[in-house]
Amino acid sequence: MSIKKKLPLIFCLIVFIILVANNAFHYIRSKNQLLDYNEKEIAMITKEVSVQVENTKQGSEYVEDILARELRIASIAIRKALPPRYQDVTNEQLKELAKELRVSHITLLAKTKDDVVGVRSSDPKEINMGTKGWGYWYDAYLQLFSLKPVTVKKGLSLPYYWSGPMEKASSNPDHIDKWGYYYDGTTNYIIEPYFRDHKVLEYEERFGPGKIIENFTKEPGILEMSVLNPKNFGKKKEEVHLNGNDYTRISAEPKWYGSYEKYPNINVDTKFVRKAIQTNKVQSYKDNLKDKSVMKTFVPVKTKLDQPYVICLVYDYGLIQSELLHELKVHIMLSIVIMIVVLIISFIFSRSITKPIGYIVEQVNEIAQGNFGKKLHLNRKDELGFLTENVNALSNHLQHYVNDLNQSKKLIEYQAYHDPLTGLTNRRYFQEKLQPIINQANEKGETVSVLFIDLDRFKHVNDSFGHNKGDELLKIVANRIQKCLPEDNHIITRQGGDEFIILMNNLDVKASKAVAEEIINTLKKPYSIAGIEVYLSASCGISMYPEHTNNLDTLIIYADMAMYSAKKLGGNRVVIFNEQISNMNQERPRLESRLRKAIESQKIEVHYQPKMNVQTETIYGAEALLRWTDEELGFVSPEVFIPIAEDTGLIQSLWEIVMKKACHQVSEWNTKYHQSLNISVNFSARQFQEPLNMVKHVKEILQESKLDPKNFEIEITESILLTNSKELVQSLQSLQNMGIAISIDDFGTGYSSLSYLKNLPINTLKIDKSFIQNITKNLVNTEIPEAIINMARGLHLDVIAEGVETDYQKEFLRSKDCIQMQGYLFSKPLSKEAFEDFLKN
Ligand code: C2E
Ligand code: MG
Ligand code: MG
Repeated sequence: MSIKKKLPLIFCLIVFIILVANNAFHYIRSKNQLLDYNEKEIAMITKEVSVQVENTKQGSEYVEDILARELRIASIAIRKALPPRYQDVTNEQLKELAKELRVSHITLLAKTKDDVVGVRSSDPKEINMGTKGWGYWYDAYLQLFSLKPVTVKKGLSLPYYWSGPMEKASSNPDHIDKWGYYYDGTTNYIIEPYFRDHKVLEYEERFGPGKIIENFTKEPGILEMSVLNPKNFGKKKEEVHLNGNDYTRISAEPKWYGSYEKYPNINVDTKFVRKAIQTNKVQSYKDNLKDKSVMKTFVPVKTKLDQPYVICLVYDYGLIQSELLHELKVHIMLSIVIMIVVLIISFIFSRSITKPIGYIVEQVNEIAQGNFGKKLHLNRKDELGFLTENVNALSNHLQHYVNDLNQSKKLIEYQAYHDPLTGLTNRRYFQEKLQPIINQANEKGETVSVLFIDLDRFKHVNDSFGHNKGDELLKIVANRIQKCLPEDNHIITRQGGDEFIILMNNLDVKASKAVAEEIINTLKKPYSIAGIEVYLSASCGISMYPEHTNNLDTLIIYADMAMYSAKKLGGNRVVIFNEQISNMNQERPRLESRLRKAIESQKIEVHYQPKMNVQTETIYGAEALLRWTDEELGFVSPEVFIPIAEDTGLIQSLWEIVMKKACHQVSEWNTKYHQSLNISVNFSARQFQEPLNMVKHVKEILQESKLDPKNFEIEITESILLTNSKELVQSLQSLQNMGIAISIDDFGTGYSSLSYLKNLPINTLKIDKSFIQNITKNLVNTEIPEAIINMARGLHLDVIAEGVETDYQKEFLRSKDCIQMQGYLFSKPLSKEAFEDFLKN
């Protein structure tokens, strides 16, 4: 639900609750007030009624007294008017006399044997009426006849006279009479004059409570009122049976005044009447009587003289209820009006809040949808105004934040796909791009060339110059590689370390190789690092899609394998993948284990290739070369097993084999043939890992084989020199000091700088056979061997050419003053027996 609806609803609910509570409170208070008022009213009324009852009682007693005295006067007058014997009196005479004396009737009572009987009367019902059963009345008659004062407590007693209390006439219960009785002993009868009904009741009629009750019952609310006799109320009528008449004495009447007939409820009322008397407290109850809701109140009144009585008041409770209902209605009406007003006010109020909130929400939604930087315009000075300002600030912040984020994202994306050092794309980028490129090539029927480039012995550069310089070099390398690549249709990535992979689209093997060779050649050019000239070389393997494989991973592996075999061939070259490489890689584990066995079972042989001095036409020495013919694998070229031995550490055992066999053999030949043959042994980089140990070992072997160190020569490649460590130089120096010659094998394929050659303890440069084999009749590729020869001469170093196969090459070299040679032209590497034969010839 929206706030706009919610607010008025909440307000209304609160006001509603307040109003309901107020109304309920007011209702209860009004009710209590009304009841209180009612109670007071009742108390007042009952007080008045009770006073009136008291007054009436006292008044009527007084009137009765007067009547009694009047009746006495009348009695005396009657005695004077009548004869002493009743027998002489007639009833007519009494009628006349009653009229004359203004009394209602006159009766004469005479004493019989056991009764007092009415003998003459103006009222025929009184004649022959016996009085024996009349209780104290009869006692009073007898006391009168005996001329004694009447001691009966009721009525008025005077000399010869007694007047009984006002009572219903037993001779005629329809009437209420006041009697007087006179006897002075001069007559044989009691003179009994009496007043009847009106004369007796006049006072009460005029001044008694009946009148006031009548007046009160005219008041609104008071339905009925009665004065009840608690002694007889609710009981069976207490009847007197006299003179053949049945009646109830006035004092035994259950109700004295009022009606008690409109809303009778005798059983319940009886209980309340009793309770009121017992507790002397006002009692009341509510009920529906005759379809009317009434409240009945019972007020006990105790008097000093007489028995207590109860005033019963029936009040119209409906009046209170209707009064309450009326008030409630007024309140509800008022509440409704208030509610409507509150609703309108709160609606206006909520609108004044929700409208700007709605605006803010709408605008914030827009911001949330990415419209950062959006500004809200709300001219308010309250909380909403502050909120707007804050939203604006937030929106602004968000805009900046998102901008920063986007920049960071771009940077992260760049970093994720680029090598931080060279700025080239990285391995991840390559892996993600390779598949789409292959797919595209596949669709178009194009080729993809993968060039796997690895710098040769780059570890040594890092070790010698430190990683910072190494990093600098790598940057230059990356730069140089990039310059060799075609303008587009390629991807170059640095895979890590000194490895680079290049993908090229739609170039055939030849074109790919040309690019690779250009890269290898540019990388070979000197680098200047901190004023020092450094030389590097690289090996590159090439694999082609789809020529070599359709599989992505295999394509990379093949390029890697090709690169690896380029390395094994001494590096600084390009090798295109072929099946042999793959086979070799697959054979490697087998080769390794067979080689191990061959070493253990001493199946490794040493062959000797003669070194010739073409000027003297003599053999001046030989190179010791390892030979391994395996029972299962057949002849295995050192080009294949030496790299494996280097990788696995077996090279150390092989070295010992060559050293011992060659030194012993040559020493033996020298003694046998009185020669001074010179033997050269190939040393791997591995041998220079612990140079001091190696020197010691060499010494031992030479001593053991009794070979003159002057006849011993060490062949190392340029790459070993590159490490240029102090220990290496020292060890070479100490070997040289012993008279051992140091020869640089495969010279020209590496990157030795001239300064190295000058400073290191070197004796001979051995021109690599690839340069010699380039020497052909067309004289095109002769500059390098020529330059090397000149350089050696300049540095006062010996020079020897290896791989001399033709006379032309021999003559060419001789013409350039290179007279030491080795090659198939003179002899292939020979077994010791063959070499001995060769020597002899
Ligand atoms: P390398 O030290 O440059 O040895 C010369 C290689 O050229 C030998 O190959 C040899 O047979 C070959 N060769 C000599 N004359 C000619 C020629 O006129 N034409 C051609 N095409 N080749 C010629 P090999 O014996 O197969 O040895 C290959 C390489 O294996 C050696 O190159 C050397 O680097 C390594 N190697 C051989 N024996 C040992 C060894 O005992 N220790 C070490 N560390 N390396 C060895
Ligand atoms: Mg060699
Ligand atoms: Mg060589």
